[in-house]
Amino acid sequence: MTTGKLNHSRKMDYGAHNCNRDKVEYIADHYGLKSQLNKLHEELVELAEVVNTQPSMILTERLVDEMADVTIMLDQIEYLMTMKKAKFKKLLGDRIAFKLDRQISRVRCEE
Ligand SMILES: [Mg+2]
Repeated sequence: MTTGKLNHSRKMDYGAHNCNRDKVEYIADHYGLKSQLNKLHEELVELAEVVNTQPSMILTERLVDEMADVTIMLDQIEYLMTMKKAKFKKLLGDRIAFKLDRQISRVRCEE
C-alpha cells in the first residue's frame, strides 16, 4: 500500500487490505493532521473523564472504549507526523526510551 494523500488507487487498495494499520492510515489520510489533533484532544478529555470518575481497579467497557479511541488517535498522529517529518518516529522513540529509563531510575530509588 502506498502512503501519502488519499487518492483513488488508495481507496481501491483499501478493500484488499483489512488490517488495523491500514485502517488507521486510511482514516488519517482522509482527515489530515489538524483535524486529527483536534480529535485527539476530544478523546483525551473523554478518557480523562472516565479515569477521573470511575473507581480504580474496575475494568469497564467505557474505559476500554476510551482507551481504544485514544490509541487509535495516537496511532494516526504518529503516522501523520512521520509523513510530515521523516525523523519524527526516531525522535519519538528516543524520547520514550529516555522517559522509561528515567522512570525506572525513580522506581529503583523507591525500592
Ligand atoms: Mg471516545
